[in-house]
Parts: sequence; structure tokens; C-alpha cells
Amino acid sequence: KSNWEMGNIEERKPHAVFTPYPLQGHINPLFKLAKLLHLRGFHITFVHTEYNHKRYLKSRGPNAFDGLPDFRFETIPDGLPPLDDDANGDVSQDIPSLSDSIRKNFLQPFCNLLTRLNHSATAGLIPPVTCLVTDCFMNFPIQAAQEFSVPVLIFSPVGAGAFASFIHFATLFDRGIIPLKDESYLTNGYLDTKVDCIPGLQNFRLKDLPSFIITTDPNDFMLEYFLEVAKRIPRDSAIVLNTFDELERDALNSLSSVFPSLYAVGPFPSFLDQSPHLASLGSNLWKEDPKCLEWLESQEPRSVVYVNFGSITVMTSEQLLEFAWGLAHSKKPFLWIIRPDLVIGGSVILSSEFVNETKDRSLIASWCPQEQVLNHPSVGGFLTHCGWNSTTESVCAGVPMLCWPFFADQPTNRRYICNEWEIGVEIDNNVKRDEIEKLINELMVGEKGKKMRQKAMELKKRADEETRPGGSSYMNLDKLINMLLN
Ligand code: UDP
Repeated sequence: KSNWEMGNIEERKPHAVFTPYPLQGHINPLFKLAKLLHLRGFHITFVHTEYNHKRYLKSRGPNAFDGLPDFRFETIPDGLPPLDDDANGDVSQDIPSLSDSIRKNFLQPFCNLLTRLNHSATAGLIPPVTCLVTDCFMNFPIQAAQEFSVPVLIFSPVGAGAFASFIHFATLFDRGIIPLKDESYLTNGYLDTKVDCIPGLQNFRLKDLPSFIITTDPNDFMLEYFLEVAKRIPRDSAIVLNTFDELERDALNSLSSVFPSLYAVGPFPSFLDQSPHLASLGSNLWKEDPKCLEWLESQEPRSVVYVNFGSITVMTSEQLLEFAWGLAHSKKPFLWIIRPDLVIGGSVILSSEFVNETKDRSLIASWCPQEQVLNHPSVGGFLTHCGWNSTTESVCAGVPMLCWPFFADQPTNRRYICNEWEIGVEIDNNVKRDEIEKLINELMVGEKGKKMRQKAMELKKRADEETRPGGSSYMNLDKLINMLLN
């Protein structure tokens, strides 16, 4: 008889197995959801790829993967050839290659893992797996859930508007709106066309939708990948989103007619980490530089421009220089996070002239604890690539934004930030130092900046309210958990 049957484990815990798409911006929110379920009594198994596992150990120390007795980590291989150079092993992997490998290579090792977990459960070591929680951009856990007869929750790491767009890519495709007929459609105003076939996104233009649709190739790999993935999400699945009603009400309403079981449970509250044993579990794959917070301590309230382009965005060295000189000429203090792989095809080189001009009012580091930075009183504005996590983290901190979207859902997020919520302004894709200088001043000391900050503070308040008892996200999480327990 197993310990379970003998009742050696005090109580039968629910056990959720989490599978993020293996990139930083997907791991972080799913990790927070895992922590929330853990706080509500779930046993957690969190699955990393072996590649990310190595990085996780490197950034967080050799014991990081031990987890807690009831919050465990497991790994599966990613099926990709190892990188030649180990020094380059600290980068986000190529998304098309990763997606292709997810499609072809992840199901079997994941099923093997579930079998192993079930054996451990039979031996009474852990509770049996009761549900899977997967990133919406991968289908293999849906297949595994069917094989193992367990329910699967689908988590969207992007906002409701971007998720709705993704679900409706097929409509755009069927109507011949995408792919673009030829290259001239990139510049002939076509991308300004209003999109009227995605309910919940009023007045959005084609260029406000996730960038994967902007292709002239009908067999574009990523477009095909998304069409396929979206098609395979069962419409009766429970969908969980890191957003809240007030932020994306129209998109949420429209989505709920496609997926009746929809739970907006975000933004994930920062009080999560106040539980000391959970605080020791982080999800960053890069090593955070502790100097960032120390340096912010020495700055005036709301004086600092925080600049961070997330974990994937890359730019040319010319673009980097425009940002650099824009920051220098703005005369404002800044904290700039420059990943070693930020510049395409080369290392980051900033001239001694720039360094001399800015060294007394700036700090450059390669990775920071972003949420703590955004919530630091010295930070007054955020120059961002508009990743959904960065966007919601900035909303939670009440910090207005300068937006330079790079790809994926970022143009959609920019649309919300600048047009719907009015807490940010857009930087032209063809970035120029004079524009950066002007926009930074407008954001930090101008009238427009003041208004945006006020609105950002109002949204922050709403975000706080929604995630506390009585708030819509809090109640949705309760409903979700009740659903999982029954
Ligand atoms: N992040 C961080 N420190 C950094 C840069 C990023 O902690 O220096 C975190 C950030 O808080 C966010 C995630 O990494 O949770 C990035 O996700 P996002 O969706 O903003 O962008 P992506 O990296 O996916 O483009």
C-alpha cells in the first residue's frame, strides 16, 4: 500500500504541473500563477527545459533548483543542438527553432515525466498529478492531458487583446487580409487599415496586431505555427489571463464568447513574495545586478528614466546610439539595462564621450530585478519595448511609459498603453536622438507626462483593488481554484 492509501500524507493535495513556453517573458507570469496556487495549497511541479535549467542554476546558485518540498522543479530536453559556445548559453533561444522543436520533440519527454511523477505518487512521495497548466502557445500539454486523463488549464502570457488577435489570425487569413500581397503593402498605408473582424478591438489597425501577421509569405513558419496552435485549443478549455477587467474589458468580453470558461486573474500581486519561503524562489534566468537598487537609493524621487527592452528585443548599433545620445541630451538620470546580446551581430560599444557625459547621473547594468526597480520611488518613467509583463508591471507600479515595440504582441500592448489607457507615448520605429530627448523631457517634467502619471496612478489603484479580496481578479482566482478542486 502506498503512503497515500495508508494516509501517511496528512491530506491529499491537488498537484499542478506547469509548462511555460521556455522564454523569460512566459516563465515569469506562469511562475507567479504557480506561486498563487501554491499559496492556496497546491503541490507544484514546474517544468523547465534543460537549457533554461542550466541558466537558472547559473543565475540563482546551485541550490535554486531544489525548490521546496511541495514546489518542485523538473526538466525536459528541448531537442535543439547545443550552442557551440558556452559563453553564448545565456541568451534567449531562437523562437522559430524553439517553436519547431516544441511541436516535434516535447510531447514524449513530457509524457515520460508525467509517468515518473505518477510512479512517485504511487510510492506515496508526492500527490498524484491532478491538472496541467500550460502556456497557450504550446499544444503538447493538451495532448498529454488527454493521454493522462487530467484537465488542462491554458494560460495566456499575453493580454486579452493580443490573445483575441491570435485566436482570430485564422479569420484574417480566411478573409485574405493576411498575408500581405507583396512588399509594397508594408509601406503603402495598408497596415493602417482598421481591422473590423476581431471583436473587442475597436479601431485597431493591422499594425496594432501582433507582428506575426505582417508577412508576405503564405507559408511563413511562425504564422503557420500560431494558426495551428490556436486551432488546437479546445473551446471548452479554461483560459487564464494575466489581466483585469478594467484594463481590457472589451477584449475580455469578446473572448468569453469564444471561451466560456475565462478567468482574468491578473495582474499578479506583488504581495506574493512577502511569504518568505516563496520569496526565495525566483524565475529570472539572468543574474540580477544588486547595484541597481542601491543606485536608485541615491536618486531623487521620480527623477530616473528606467530603460529596459526585455529578454528578446535586439537592435542595431545605430539604434543603440540614438537611444544613448537621446538619454545623454535629456540631462535626466537614467538606469539602462543592456543585455550583452542586445545589439545585433556585435557587442555593445558606447563611446568614452557618452560615458564621460553621463557617468554622474546614470547606471548601466545587464539585468535587474525589474519589479523592484519599477516600484522604487526614484523611478519616474519607463522606456520599454512593451512586453506584456513589462506593461503590467509598469501599470502595477503606476509608472508612465515611452514605447518602442519590437515585435510579437508588443504593438498591441503599445496601442493599449498609448491610445486606450493614455499612460504612454510612442517612439517612432526609426528612432532618433532628438525625439528621444524631447519625449523623455515631456514624460519626466512636461504637462503631458504629468497627466499620464496621474492616469497611471489611477490604474495602479485599480490593479491593487482587483487583486484584493472582493476584487474581480481575486474572485476569478477563487472561482478557478474551486473549479480545479471539484
Ligand atoms: N526582467 C527583469 N529584469 C530585467 C529585464 C526583464 O526582471 O532586467 C523581467 C521583467 O520583469 C518581465 C520579463 O523579464 O517579467 C520580461 O517580460 P516581457 O513580457 O516584458 O518581455 P519579453 O522579455 O518577453 O520581451
